[in-house]
Amino acid sequence: MTIATVPTAEAALTDAQLRSLDVPGPRYTSYPTADRFVEAFGPTEYRQALRQRADGAVVGGVPPLSVYVHIPFCDSLCYYCACNKIITRHHSRGREYLGLLAREIDLHVAELGAGQGLSQLHLGGGTPTFLSDDELSELMGLLRGGFRILPNCEVSIEVDPRTATKQRLRHLVDLGFNRISFGIQDFDPDVQAAVHRIQSYDSVQELVAEARALRFESINADLIYGLPKQTPESFQRTIAQIAELRPTRIALYAYAHLPQRFKPQRRIAAADLPSGEQRVQMLGNALAGFIASGYVYIGMDHFALPTDALAIAKRQGRLHRNFQGYTTQPDCDLVGLGVSAIGRVGATYSQNAKTLPEYEDALAQGTLPVVRGLALTRDDLLRRSVIMALMCQGRVEYESIELAHLISFRETFAPEFERLKPLAEMGLVEINDQAIQVTPTGWYFVRAVAMTFDRYLQSDKVRERFSRII
Ligand code: SF4
Repeated sequence: MTIATVPTAEAALTDAQLRSLDVPGPRYTSYPTADRFVEAFGPTEYRQALRQRADGAVVGGVPPLSVYVHIPFCDSLCYYCACNKIITRHHSRGREYLGLLAREIDLHVAELGAGQGLSQLHLGGGTPTFLSDDELSELMGLLRGGFRILPNCEVSIEVDPRTATKQRLRHLVDLGFNRISFGIQDFDPDVQAAVHRIQSYDSVQELVAEARALRFESINADLIYGLPKQTPESFQRTIAQIAELRPTRIALYAYAHLPQRFKPQRRIAAADLPSGEQRVQMLGNALAGFIASGYVYIGMDHFALPTDALAIAKRQGRLHRNFQGYTTQPDCDLVGLGVSAIGRVGATYSQNAKTLPEYEDALAQGTLPVVRGLALTRDDLLRRSVIMALMCQGRVEYESIELAHLISFRETFAPEFERLKPLAEMGLVEINDQAIQVTPTGWYFVRAVAMTFDRYLQSDKVRERFSRII
């Protein structure tokens, strides 16, 4: 297949060109990517970054914060899972976990001061709706006790439809949630059985209809292609069903089969996986299907209705990117709470302990549970600006980077311009005297364009840690 099946594509790529683009690559929710974090960056360094932010607040004010809370528990295991989660039927663990989060919030308040304004709050997992309604109320109470949720704050939650009811959604609205994301993946019964995640179309339809009636500002549906037992025909049915549900946003991820790294995936028989050709077909069908149904392609696996804030931000060149993917919020410091959560404060990234006992031990000692992270160098900051401009605006203006980083763009990135040449020949980017511009076709491969500026990605061994672009 060629990408000519995508309605907005301006150029057709040959199969050989498509294959050359189908390599593993990061999703660039951060740069440098999380695999570069080091253990030399720990609680002391993180505390220092928090204090610097607090000092900035005293001197001249700082932009509002973003907070991510990781709830690691799930009732049952999905075989494709690559998340940090704990499978348990013991719901009492939810309340114990809230006690740990309360301590972690207190430690942050001690450094930042009480009442930091929040412009973004996201609950992810695992399964945030593993918590009961009362526990979710308690968690929001803890967060409101430590931070100030600003009036226009984006308050979002990932919902596993198997753990939600209409009543639950109403409770979420009462708690202040205004954005919701449903994990759907695929509606085909054979695929659902093969990945051990059974949820009927009717039950999801009922929830999406209720979310719409409750006026959630954005309703997202997560899908995955490349799952076992999936075929282009079966996935086509899921695409049509999703278009019928009409969520305001769709995130379409490629399944990365890495059973050596992710134990649950060992339950998936490699023989059940679709071929590379079928995956390309499914991606092409999804792109064409969603665009024909009125969705706008945002970039990197994301679609939105033209009236959705994300599509408006894309049109106005105001897209940003953080650990949750694309966002309309300008870059702001992100505090990650909970086991394995990642934060970004000032010119640093940090990650909490990945296991519950380790996370708990640190908090019992009154220490922030950060176990690794990174203080960004000048070169990291420069490349981050370029990569994020490509991923979010699809355009890098040399002058703006030169002014911000005091460099000569052409001289500094001479090797990168060489690496961009084949992509320019394929029609994915246009290079002129002022800027590098990603073309409409290039948007589908924007990761490959961004990768040319990634200093750490030069060996194939490093690349193999990431999922494939297609
Ligand atoms: S995919 Fe989501 S719900 Fe399923 S096991 Fe992983 S974290 Fe839990």
